[in-house]
Amino acid sequence: MYADVIVDISVEALDKTYQYRIPDSLISTVQIGSPVKVPFGRGNRVLGGFVMNITDQPAFDVARMKEILTVEKKQVSVEGQLLEIAGFIRDRYGSTMNEALKTVLPIKKKIKSVEEHWLNFAMEKNEIIDILHEYERKHYAAKVRLIKGMLAEGGTITRRMADVKYQIKKPVVDGLVKEGVITVTRERKYRNPLEETVSSQYVKKVLNEEQREMVESFSEDYQEGKRKNYLLYGITGSGKTEVYLRLLQTVLADGKQGIVLIPEIALTFQTVSRFRQVFGERVSVLHSRLSEGERYDQYERAKNGEVDIMIGPRSALFTPFERLGLIIIDEEHETSYISEGTPKYHSDEVALFRAKQSEASVVFGSATPSVKSYLAAKEGRYEEHRLTKRAGEARLPQIHIVDLREELKAKNRSVFSRILQEKMQERLDKKEQTMLFINRRGYAGFVSCRNCGNVLQCSHCDVSMTAHKNHVGEVDSLVCHYCGHASRMPEKCPECGSPYIAAFGLGTQKVEEMLQRQFPTARILRMDADTTSGKHGHEGVLSGFRHGKADILIGTQMIVKGHDFPNVTLVAALAADMSMFENDYRSSERTFQLLMQASGRAGRGEKQGEVVIQTYKPEHYVIESVKEQNAELFYENELAYRRMLKYPPCYAMLTVQISGESPEAGWQCATALKTMALERLGDEITVVGPARETARRLKDRFQYMFYVKALKMETILQVKEIMNQGMDQESYSCYIQFEVD
Ligand code: ADP
Ligand code: ZN
Ligand code: ZN
Repeated sequence: MYADVIVDISVEALDKTYQYRIPDSLISTVQIGSPVKVPFGRGNRVLGGFVMNITDQPAFDVARMKEILTVEKKQVSVEGQLLEIAGFIRDRYGSTMNEALKTVLPIKKKIKSVEEHWLNFAMEKNEIIDILHEYERKHYAAKVRLIKGMLAEGGTITRRMADVKYQIKKPVVDGLVKEGVITVTRERKYRNPLEETVSSQYVKKVLNEEQREMVESFSEDYQEGKRKNYLLYGITGSGKTEVYLRLLQTVLADGKQGIVLIPEIALTFQTVSRFRQVFGERVSVLHSRLSEGERYDQYERAKNGEVDIMIGPRSALFTPFERLGLIIIDEEHETSYISEGTPKYHSDEVALFRAKQSEASVVFGSATPSVKSYLAAKEGRYEEHRLTKRAGEARLPQIHIVDLREELKAKNRSVFSRILQEKMQERLDKKEQTMLFINRRGYAGFVSCRNCGNVLQCSHCDVSMTAHKNHVGEVDSLVCHYCGHASRMPEKCPECGSPYIAAFGLGTQKVEEMLQRQFPTARILRMDADTTSGKHGHEGVLSGFRHGKADILIGTQMIVKGHDFPNVTLVAALAADMSMFENDYRSSERTFQLLMQASGRAGRGEKQGEVVIQTYKPEHYVIESVKEQNAELFYENELAYRRMLKYPPCYAMLTVQISGESPEAGWQCATALKTMALERLGDEITVVGPARETARRLKDRFQYMFYVKALKMETILQVKEIMNQGMDQESYSCYIQFEVD
């Protein structure tokens, strides 16, 4: 057997492996990721390296091949640990070792330039307009384009943007500078988070009883050497962050280090400041506004022991701390913790793996824990602690559930129910603010009856059928994307016979128009992907709203996440059902979390808040639980549903995606793999799909999906292995991609 060994751990060197023979005495101990000692170069200098791959095919003349000298017993170095994590990611989520390594290793890159050149107007706006007219008369196309562009972008743009977006070349810029129309200034391209000074001093708070309970039991466990995992289930504003600070103090006092994962959207200056106030220079931050160079620097500082706490989104999980003691995952239910690209790893699972490896603990914090974490706590895998009181006592909002079927019966065809119209008018009169949100942008794809609320679901899978349009844009058929079951779009509701049956669709822009018609004097702001393009677009809209620049904010779900608006006393979900019937087994969970978060938005200040939830399904347990503010009711119902239909977290599930050059090739490959898995593990697995009807054409390839479910994750990993081997042997001209759970 032969091993490909890497001696320099960095992404650029990944492809530079050297092959060594594995001596017989070591064959049973050498694994992928093993740290080894090898003779290197002419002088046979002994170097440390890591095994990247093992094969029985020598890459060159075996007579000239050197042997691995030893395998290190214990993986002490952090690189070794990261490689082991990469191995875990590869095995579990089905990527190549290279993809996994690229995920866990920092990218070494020198920053070429940290400066950005900004173009600014050198005159008053009216003068600029005059000059613009003059240029237009003279047909100076490029100059006109640039000035119009600058005006459109708010008066100033970067040199690069002028180039890329407006195709402005250097002589045009130079010309305008010479004419005194614009100036060019240089600024540092990125704010370095480490240079920001902390304005206020940390005032140590007296913990309330619930907070103290969590902090003390963690400290006791920690001092006794017990490394547990915890679920901190605390409502918004109950002081979770305050608890995190204390836990980190405990861990740092022991000479250990901590990683704090926070979703990018919640990673605000204020949040980071709270950590900086307590831990000062020992804190570093990773976020998407850092350049690759700056990002790399933060990893370096962590590795050198210059910092003890790293805050960031999921990639912070791979901070090379040598003495990791604690990983905190705040807002653990957020979907951004599941990576979208390959490998599609789940941060919670990787965190648990890493914690075990470095003898650290994990704390999962949330106001609306994921069903997965809830189950883990229930089964005792996580120790649960609750925070049920808000620090600055705010009253719970009053919740109104509106049955949209009743609105239709009362001949109200507006998307705003009667009670919502009334409440909005009240807010306008009292100069308070309203937030209206739509769970999803635009067209949701499912079909429902406006008379009885019935959502057309697959008779085999209990997920909603997706509407498919024909070539003239009419919905003519329904397809289940899980199993492929297809049917014609019915003319009447199969439940009640009403003809008011249609694909559900409601866009933010449409809502804005209707709202403006109904309340002509109201000042309305809209926030969705269209209005918030540009780096600071969405913060601009939000801060405008916070400062009272509008009465009503309409938006997609991003408006209900993690922002504080003291003057908002009314929050409404226009169509709660939209996210409830997406074709995803987690759609109820997402809807529940969203509606709970939304109800936490209303009345954060002194004033009592109200929430209006419009739905066709008021009897659904998601709506019931939100109405009663009874999370238990939701979790128990949801777990029963997942168990019955064999969905995670009760079962393990593998999504297999096969794409082929032709529909036939993809189909053959998918069915062959399915058969292979069933032959070997038929007793333990359930396979749903593939179905010919659900083939999707993507970039000229044809994609089929199917799902494998099993009680145990090990079985799923076996299935993955079987399919990988099947792909190797058959040499299909197809690609395979996996997604776990
Ligand atoms: P969460 O992270 O659960 O949303 P935070 O930790 O941000 O909650 O706390 C919400 C607010 O309450 C913050 O302004 C925080 O400073 C304050 N707070 C938290 N714990 C206490 C406490 N024990 N005494 C006084 N104020 C507190
Ligand atoms: Zn009906
Ligand atoms: Zn189905």
